[in-house]
Parts: sequence; C-alpha cells; structure tokens
Amino acid sequence: MNEPLLDGNEEKYVLECIRTGWISSEGPFVQRFESEMSKYVHRRYGVAVSSGTAALDIAFSAIGIGPGDEVIMPAFTIISCVQQVLRSGATPVFVDCDLKTWNMDADQVRTAISKRTKAILMVHIYGLPSDVDAILEIADAHNLIVIEDAAEAHGQFYKDRPCGSFGGISIFSFYANKHVTTGEGGMVLTDNEEYADRCRSLRNLCFEEHQRFMHKSLGWNYRMTNLQAALGVAQLEQLPKFIERKKRMGALYTKFLQDIDGVQLPLERTDYAENHYWVFGILLSPNLGLTAATVMKRLAERGIGTRPFFFPLNKQPVILDNSDDRDQECPNAEHLYKYGFYVPSGLALTEEQIGTVASEVEAVLQ
Ligand SMILES: *Cc1c(COP(=O)(O)O)cnc(C)c1O
Repeated sequence: MNEPLLDGNEEKYVLECIRTGWISSEGPFVQRFESEMSKYVHRRYGVAVSSGTAALDIAFSAIGIGPGDEVIMPAFTIISCVQQVLRSGATPVFVDCDLKTWNMDADQVRTAISKRTKAILMVHIYGLPSDVDAILEIADAHNLIVIEDAAEAHGQFYKDRPCGSFGGISIFSFYANKHVTTGEGGMVLTDNEEYADRCRSLRNLCFEEHQRFMHKSLGWNYRMTNLQAALGVAQLEQLPKFIERKKRMGALYTKFLQDIDGVQLPLERTDYAENHYWVFGILLSPNLGLTAATVMKRLAERGIGTRPFFFPLNKQPVILDNSDDRDQECPNAEHLYKYGFYVPSGLALTEEQIGTVASEVEAVLQ
C-alpha cells in the first residue's frame, strides 16, 4: 500500500546518531527538525512528538479543552482527532463533509456553533485542503480557537499559504505513509509562546523546571527520538521532490481511470488549491450496484492492496456507547465510507505499477 522513499540523506543522518551516541530525545536533530519544520510552514515554534495522535492530544490539552466545552470537527476523519476531546470530558460536534472535496462543509460549521463551542478542528483530507478562509472567518467571528490537522498535508498550500500555518495551533504526523516520515512521529506548531511552552511540558511528563521530580500537572512521555528526527530532517530536504512525484502519480491514475463509468476520482484542483494526492481515493457511484467492500475484496483476489475510507466518527461504537445520544447524522460521510476506497499511493510506487493497479480496477468494475 505504501512504501516510503528513503533515498536522500536518511542513512547518513541516522548513522550520525548511532556513531555519536545521541539516540534519545536529547540529540541535536530534534531541535533542528523542529526549527526546519517551523520555518517551512512559517510558524515560530515546533514541538516534536512521538506521533500525530500525540500531537493532537497535547494540542487539545495545551489550549485547555475540558468539561463543558464543545469542539466542532469533521465526521470524516481519523479517530485520533476525537480521543483527547472525549478523554478531557469535552463534547465533539460532528460536521458532515462535501461530497466532491471530501473535506468538512464550512456552512455546516456555522450552524454547529453553540454557546459552549470552544474550538474548531480543521482537518485536510486525502490531499486537498479544507476551505481554510471560510473556517477562519467563522472562528474569528465567534472568537473560537482553530486547531489545524495537517497530518496529510505536508508541502500543501491553501492559496499561497502553507498548510500547517493556520489557526492558533497546528499538527503534523510523520507516520510511514505521510509525505514526510520518521517511521512514527508528529509535531505541534504554533506562534503562541504559551501554547508552545505547555506543549513542551506536556510531551515530557510536566517536569517542573526548578524541581525536576515535582509535578503540578499530568503529561505524557510523547518525546521524539534523535533517530526519528534525523530521518525527518533528511525527508524534509526531499519534500518538494516528493510533492512533484505525488502530483505526477495522481495525474497518471486520473488519466488511466477517468473514462471508467461510475467512478468519481479526486478533484484535480479547486479554486484554492491543487490536489497533491496524499492518497488516491476512488468513489463508486451507487448506480454500479457495488460497495467499496465488494470491489476491495475483488481487487485483493487479484493481488491489489486497497484501504477503506474513514469510518464516520458519528457512528463509531466507542463514541455512541459513551455519549448522551446526540443524534448527529452525517449522510455524506456515511456515503463516502460505503462507496470509497483508496489504491496504493506510496512514494516508491512506479509508473508501471500504477498502470497495473488501474487496469485491475477497470477489470473488476466491468
Ligand atoms: C495519520 C493521521 C493522524 C495521526 O497520525 P499518527 O502519526 O498515525 O498518530 C491524525 N490525523 C490525520 C488526518 C491523519 O491522517
């Protein structure tokens, strides 16, 4: 599904860690990675952590989300987005997605606002950014904090501004299938010094500065190692090349698949961004009489790996079992789950492999 490209300075920098003995979070690559990522997305502070999920946990904690607060977020996203909201005693309010861009519908964000709303989580989905300006405007008008989840949007831009630069606080993941990978890893970015200080403390067990083993708050051990950061620095050097490659892969899949009846492909562009195809999603038309699950099974029988689209958060058993039964219907997110899947999209995929995947997709739909 997703083979990374580690063909730049990755080996050299990781060897440097091993040869110097700097393998924990104390090594110099951690700060270097934080400062280079911050520069890349025009933020003052970067706090490297052990995963994108960890980054979301400490971001929500740092801005003080807690009991009684509501956080507006898309239903069509990963479970990582909602975990700390639920654990902190706050309430997630799910908003449906647009069927073309697969991103959160900004109009529905407006109607989801209540007196208890404290923050909006804006997530860029599968390679196209959210409608950033619309969401920032709503947040400004209601004095809400925006958290930007750019885990799928390294190197992506909204108009001429980099993803990861929006709202009060933003996060990235560096999992192996992301455009910049450290194997496992993540980062919180912000311009707010207070948030940055809190994030640094939260990732490191909230040790007190002057009395190390004294703790006034609970944190996590979410530190990133120097080995991971070494990979990250090398990967970031390659990011422009990676984005070009991803765009070429998307264009090739589009060329091969666009004439098949009954499939909707990712938008190549909107009026604010060009798709950079974090993954190449395929949405089946209900007219075909086939669900994604059926097509994925047929493709597996032909040796083609696929992944389903996100299962909507408003229908997650773990959330339904623990909520006071707020009835939040998100029919578009449910439609995407039922009819959507994505095909191999890793950076190491060759043009020949893309051709093979496309012809197998065509064959199983006939
Ligand atoms: C991958 C991802 C995450 C979680 O990142 P991990 O590093 O896997 O914990 C969070 N949000 C989105 C949108 C993602 O795609």
